[in-house]
Amino acid sequence: MTTRCKECQGTNVQRAMWVRVNTDETLDQVFDDSYSASGAASFAGTWCEDCEAHTELRQRFEVTP
Ligand SMILES: [Zn+2]
Repeated sequence: MTTRCKECQGTNVQRAMWVRVNTDETLDQVFDDSYSASGAASFAGTWCEDCEAHTELRQRFEVTP
């Protein structure tokens, strides 16, 4: 399973992540749990290097040619 950019299907996608500045602890589930309902925040939390834009992520379970 590979998470891809919803727009260009590229794999050079990034997801923003919160880090506790005092401990360097990463809070991996912040966007999934807290922001998915709103949509807008989740949208802003992803970045595609290929599109050079904030896009949406898409998880593809099937293999595409
Ligand atoms: Zn893209």
